[in-house]
Amino acid sequence: MLKLTGREKGALIFEGIVTVALLILINVAVVVIIQKFIQSNPGLSSGIFIIKQSLWLGPFHTRIWSYQWIANGILLLIDAWVVWWRLIRRYHQYQMDHILDELHYIAQGHLDHRIPFRLKGSQQHVITSVNALVDSAVQSMNDERQIEKSKDELITNVSHDLRTPLTSIIGYLRLIEDKQYHSEEDIVKYAHIAYEKSKQMKTLVEDLFEYTKVQQHGAPVNLMTVDLSELLEQVAASFELEGEKRGIEVTATTKPDPLKIEADPEKLGRVFSNLVANALKYGNGASYIRIAATVAGDQVAVKVANDGTKIPAASLEHLFERFYRVESSRSKATGGTGLGLAIVKSIVDLHHGQVTVTSDDDETAFTVTLPTAQPKEEAKG
Ligand code: ATP
Ligand code: MG
Repeated sequence: MLKLTGREKGALIFEGIVTVALLILINVAVVVIIQKFIQSNPGLSSGIFIIKQSLWLGPFHTRIWSYQWIANGILLLIDAWVVWWRLIRRYHQYQMDHILDELHYIAQGHLDHRIPFRLKGSQQHVITSVNALVDSAVQSMNDERQIEKSKDELITNVSHDLRTPLTSIIGYLRLIEDKQYHSEEDIVKYAHIAYEKSKQMKTLVEDLFEYTKVQQHGAPVNLMTVDLSELLEQVAASFELEGEKRGIEVTATTKPDPLKIEADPEKLGRVFSNLVANALKYGNGASYIRIAATVAGDQVAVKVANDGTKIPAASLEHLFERFYRVESSRSKATGGTGLGLAIVKSIVDLHHGQVTVTSDDDETAFTVTLPTAQPKEEAKG
């Protein structure tokens, strides 16, 4: 409850006393006026007399009303109501003042402060709304800060990942520039390394571009009816050759076939390309990569599985974070940036779906769950 200050209590009592004094004056005036009025109207006073005569109670015909009683009773009721009304009004005003004080205090930057007291009725609404407003303002400030921080991290990571290949490109090109080679073979070798590193940089820049594009709030999604069977077969086909080279069979099956869903075909293609590319790159010792889609209700589940080396359990929960790479694949010359799965997750999010991963000694499987139809309002954007 709200505690009034001593001054406010005093003011309240003073107001009560003033009101009562004023009311007494008004009452006396009213009584005098009415008396004068009745006296100057003989018809009215005899009428009142007759009414009084006819009002009685019990076996002894006790008269319960006299003219004064009625008038005084009514006046007293009105007085009581006026006093009560004025005091309540003043009390509400004090409550408002307290709320305003608290508001000013919060506005001065005490954002962890909330209005601490509770009131009755509509005043409590004001308090609840103010507190909720401050909560949501603080929340969005924190969100903003978080975004700012993660943007900084992104820039740090990217500059680091760009600098590493760039340093070696410059290094090898300088060898050529300074004629520090012994044969034409050396030149070819240095040029080749520089070329490979440049390609790596290009991939990073492209990935980054793709990632920021799908990360953007309200990123455009080009929704249309897509035959998932066709899309997945195309993805499998594009990796067939590469798979053959390593003795890995890449297949795609859907049940039913064809399988129509509402999605952005280009983005969805990217999702499964990334997953299959990873399976090829990191699924050491695998003999197959199987893409399999099934329908359950209004959801489609697409599983991309391979029987390669298992991903350490501790890494599983971080896989979808941007720039995260399992330690063992870092040291290897696989040349990734760790954006692939972050892009996958962002695209799946855009489609209101989920992506999960499981990995054990038998199989590593990424499962993408998508609704067959996209929610209506989002479809506009
Ligand atoms: P990028 O895709 O940006 O070129 P990346 O492939 O390293 O880089 P992600 O695709 O995000 O990045 O994958 C993150 C990490 O997850 C990989 O570095 C790899 O260690 C691990 N990983 C992903 N898929 C598999 C898989 N099928 N089998 C084993 N490890 C995997
Ligand atoms: Mg990848």
